[in-house]
Amino acid sequence: TLPLAGKVALVTGASRGIGAAIARRLAADGADVAITYVSSAQRAEELAAQIRAGGRRAIAIAADAADAQAVTASVERTVAELGRLDILVNNAGVFAYGPFEDETLENYERVMAIHVRAPFVAAQAASRHLPRGGRIITIGSCLGERVGAPGMALYSLSKAAVVGLSKGLAQDLGKRGITVNTVQPGPIDTDMNPADGEGADHQRAGLPLGAFGTADDIAATVAHLAGPGGAFITGTQISVDGGFSA
Ligand code: NDP
Repeated sequence: TLPLAGKVALVTGASRGIGAAIARRLAADGADVAITYVSSAQRAEELAAQIRAGGRRAIAIAADAADAQAVTASVERTVAELGRLDILVNNAGVFAYGPFEDETLENYERVMAIHVRAPFVAAQAASRHLPRGGRIITIGSCLGERVGAPGMALYSLSKAAVVGLSKGLAQDLGKRGITVNTVQPGPIDTDMNPADGEGADHQRAGLPLGAFGTADDIAATVAHLAGPGGAFITGTQISVDGGFSA
């Protein structure tokens, strides 16, 4: 039998990129999957349809991660429609880059709401439903580990914050047999960070492996943490970054 047979996963921000690869991989490993999106309704519905065609149940939910009520509602809807919740993957994210002097309070609130408040709120809602063996996995960033260049203080702050969140929740939920971890991708070829984009060569120069990773590289580690192999891994962060922070 498949490692995630009978499990239900919720992956936030999974209409494209890393989140979509995670949703596909968890479904391939046997899980039924709920995905959220903010604007790509068609792509999210197409992915859900593909997963259903592969024999799993799947639903797409419009839920802006910047809206705490929508985040909670997406957890409740997953449980209502798919019957349970075993795996929460907090992936929804936006890049934030620019001169520190020009950063606005409005952008600070938006980025922190999406990257920090949403995982906090989703974890709290999920914790009411997660059984023993449950998993919470948050997608941080190699920039939460090592920043290495100017213009990313806000982004790095938000990605470092989820490391603390995962450690704290690992303490809170460990007694219930629930593991909580952060996965820290390095340069991954997606719409957010195209391998042929501006600044890509600069990132490649800092990569011991010399090339961008793929969304599937991140999905593989999330699948490991979500599966039986992740049972004794909690309260830690795992870099999947081609050596970027080494
Ligand atoms: P993409 O921009 O390619 O995709 C982002 C996904 O998140 C989309 O599905 C998008 O939905 C969704 N999303 C964005 N904002 C919101 C929101 N407010 N509410 C709900 N969903 C939202 O990004 P990646 O796949 O590259 O990134 C995924 C995660 O990985 C992010 O947390 C990012 O910070 C992190 N990361 C990425 C790296 C990279 O090099 N690519 C490196 C390190 C970390 P929609 O289609 O509806 O807009």
